[in-house]
Amino acid sequence: MTDLSDLFGLAGKTAFISGSSRGIGFAMAKALASGGATVIINGRDEDHVQKALGSLAESGIQAIGSTFDVTVAEDVEREIGRLEAERGPIDILVNNAGMQHRAPFADFPLDMFDRLMRTNLYSAFYVTRPVVRSMMARKTGSIINICSVQSELGRSSIVPYTASKGAMKMLTKGLATELGPHGIRVNGIGPGYFRTELNEALVQDAEFSRWLVGRTPLARWGEVDELGGAAIFLASDASSFMTGQIIYVDGGMTGSV
Ligand code: NDP
Repeated sequence: MTDLSDLFGLAGKTAFISGSSRGIGFAMAKALASGGATVIINGRDEDHVQKALGSLAESGIQAIGSTFDVTVAEDVEREIGRLEAERGPIDILVNNAGMQHRAPFADFPLDMFDRLMRTNLYSAFYVTRPVVRSMMARKTGSIINICSVQSELGRSSIVPYTASKGAMKMLTKGLATELGPHGIRVNGIGPGYFRTELNEALVQDAEFSRWLVGRTPLARWGEVDELGGAAIFLASDASSFMTGQIIYVDGGMTGSV
């Protein structure tokens, strides 16, 4: 009989999760740590990173903090290099950092478009490059890109976000194709609607909540801890023959009209 800890266990692995001081990134870090991985918590704000480390410590999890902005290519190269030199190789990379800005397309501020693309897309390119060089040398690794239901579905007032998440889906498939022969798997998770700071405006909007519950077959918002299972599955040997795929954890939204 297959031992579940052989299939899903992450003991001895190190995971870097970009943007994991709160929200979805934090929930996935907690899940990967519960599977036995050493997790590296990242964010721009040192206080938030320390708070996240403190909260994990209360659950008996000793994690590593790494405060830097994933949209600054030179900082990413330096900090990923430092982490691997001091803590050992990164086996699991979760490209999670992201932001939202809502505005009609015709008035969408140019500087905000630039910031959003840098945060949601460029950051994944910047972080994956150095991590992949070291994974290629070891011929192993799992990369998880955080996509969205907006990788598949349009929505008015968030056109640039939709473009960035569509690009994350194709970054996943492109990387999976190029890196498969090097023993590296690249998959994505597409969350539906979860109550986090990024969605604060929607969480406060009763009319939106009513629409969301009606539009989602499971008839509710998602809870961030419900993303942990997909993260453990894609990080672990349980998904050893899977690459280039996106798992939508969305209460059925992308499966239904
Ligand atoms: P939150 O705003 O709640 O958290 C974002 C996290 O990323 C924080 O830890 C933040 O910390 C960090 N972060 C933001 N920018 C940077 C940066 N430049 N460098 C390093 N860290 C950064 O967002 P969510 O948890 O809601 O979203 C996480 C991901 O999930 C995003 O990619 C989002 O698009 C995606 N997603 C979310 C959905 C939802 O319903 N919430 C649905 C579908 C996808 P700090 O600000 O201190 O840097």
